[in-house]
This record gives sequence, C-alpha cells and structure tokens, in this order.
Amino acid sequence: MRIYVDQDICISCGSCVEICPLVFDWNDDEKAFTIVDEVPSELESDALEALQNCPTEAILEK
Ligand code: SF4
Repeated sequence: MRIYVDQDICISCGSCVEICPLVFDWNDDEKAFTIVDEVPSELESDALEALQNCPTEAILEK
C-alpha cells in the first residue's frame, strides 16, 4: 500500500497523525505527510483508517 498526502488539500486537522503516527507526521509547512513510501503491512489497517477519516480526503493511494 502506497499513499501520500495532497498538500493542497490537507487542512492540518491532525486526525491522521493521531490515528497512525508511525505513517503520518507534520512537515515544515505544518501539513501532514507520509513518513514511509510503502506502508508496512502491520500498519495498513491504521493507515486505511486514517485515509477514511481524513475530512478533506487529502490522503490518496499512489
Ligand atoms: S487527516 Fe487529512 S486534513 Fe487532517 S492532517 Fe491528515 S491529511 Fe491533513
């Protein structure tokens, strides 16, 4: 599973970082970004939950 955050759509709500901090973190622009390019299988369900809970649908699959 490969995902990324569309920087133009992220509103910095923090949901993804809270749900799955091993995949999402803040960048210098205070937007969320993915720490890893390929989500490890053990984190896929948390990453998917973060994707589904993003209020602006900024988390996209590659
Ligand atoms: S849940 Fe979506 S809008 Fe909120 S910080 Fe993450 S990517 Fe940005």
